[in-house]
Amino acid sequence: MYTHTRSDALFTAARACMPGGVSSPVRAYKAVGGSPVFIERGSGAWIQDVDGNRYVDYVLSYGPLLVGHAHKEVVAAISAAAAKGTSFGACTEGEAQLVQKVQSVMPGVERLRLVNSGTEAVMSALRLARAFTGRSKIIKCVGNYHGHADCLLVEAGSGVATLGLPDCPGVPRSTAENTLVVPFNDISAVEQALNAHAGEVAAMIVEPVAGNMGVIPPVAGYLEGLRNVTQSHGVLLIFDEVMTGFRVHPGGAQTLYGIIPDLTTLGKVIGGGLPIGAYGGRAEIMAQIAPEGPVYQAGTLSGNPVAVQAGLATLEIGIQGEVWEGVASQTGSLMNELSVIAKHKSVPMQINGVGTMFSIFFTEMPVTDWETASSSDADFFGKVFRALLPGGVHLAPSQYEAWFMSIAHDTEAVAHTVDAFDRALEIALND
Ligand SMILES: *Cc1c(COP(=O)(O)O)cnc(C)c1O
Repeated sequence: MYTHTRSDALFTAARACMPGGVSSPVRAYKAVGGSPVFIERGSGAWIQDVDGNRYVDYVLSYGPLLVGHAHKEVVAAISAAAAKGTSFGACTEGEAQLVQKVQSVMPGVERLRLVNSGTEAVMSALRLARAFTGRSKIIKCVGNYHGHADCLLVEAGSGVATLGLPDCPGVPRSTAENTLVVPFNDISAVEQALNAHAGEVAAMIVEPVAGNMGVIPPVAGYLEGLRNVTQSHGVLLIFDEVMTGFRVHPGGAQTLYGIIPDLTTLGKVIGGGLPIGAYGGRAEIMAQIAPEGPVYQAGTLSGNPVAVQAGLATLEIGIQGEVWEGVASQTGSLMNELSVIAKHKSVPMQINGVGTMFSIFFTEMPVTDWETASSSDADFFGKVFRALLPGGVHLAPSQYEAWFMSIAHDTEAVAHTVDAFDRALEIALND
């Protein structure tokens, strides 16, 4: 018997003292209905809630946990670091080690600055791009999410899309006016925007594989096209690899597709489940950052020694060739099995995936951009989501989030998921 009385009680208490009862909006289950489960612990591919229910977890903290929950070596690295002191606001040895590790796999990263979140990485990269080019405008894609900085909360995918906040109150019009929005996977829209605003655009920022409107790979030639048009207009190309970094390929989308951006933003996996972010790129551009150059950006906890060790341990284990390939191949098998089930039950479903992340969309249309993604039956997704919980599978509570895999998602976890998905579709169809 599946019960969640303790989760419900905790949610009631949280709602009385926290906006919506949560620390980040999607966790409130608004898009899928029902009341959120409160998680007590995790181990490998599995998590357990406060009522004792166990789930195979595909949220993995929205991507960071490439090696699964509470991996022994990651926990040991965190404990060892914490025992020596949690923060100094001074230089520590691990920072350059983490940076060198990233440099060794990401060709676009000649220099890297560590910050505390993906949002902060993106904000800082944009300031740098504007300083370097002396221009103000930026271009972003509909349905891409780059964190919650003012200028990027425009047509911004999952959390924002799910909540139906077309324009976020509190963002000054003058800020939003500097953001040009184009459809994803549409190179001619970028060309038009660049021609219409010649000499005004500092940077084009893009998720090279979109992940925040569900997973949507770039169409053939798209990233190459972006590289060419930005270069010819003197515009910096920023790959936001906060999600794709180490997930679509050990060396990120830039390695997978062989396109080198001017700047790269990172987060999620690079901190192994602790708060961290990073931005980097061409040495000449990064030299503009203080104290080397005039562009100010700082942080009390930046390069935090505990987070750095969690990130290092995660990368050392997770992006080794064979280990990473194993996760990707397990991801492929799960995707196959899920689509066989949907076909068998005549449920229209698209499944998009790259490397170790994927999404399902309940629609007949191939999903290539926000317009096609939003043709999905979100109501049906909600039913499937709610049926999967008692079946022991924990998904992100939105049609527009990715499923993430880890090295701990073994054959048993996958088989459990496939079985639960079969039953959940049946329940949703009869709901
Ligand atoms: C998660 C995400 C961010 C924001 O990172 P936070 O650490 O949540 O601030 C930015 N860009 C992309 C592509 C993301 O997936």
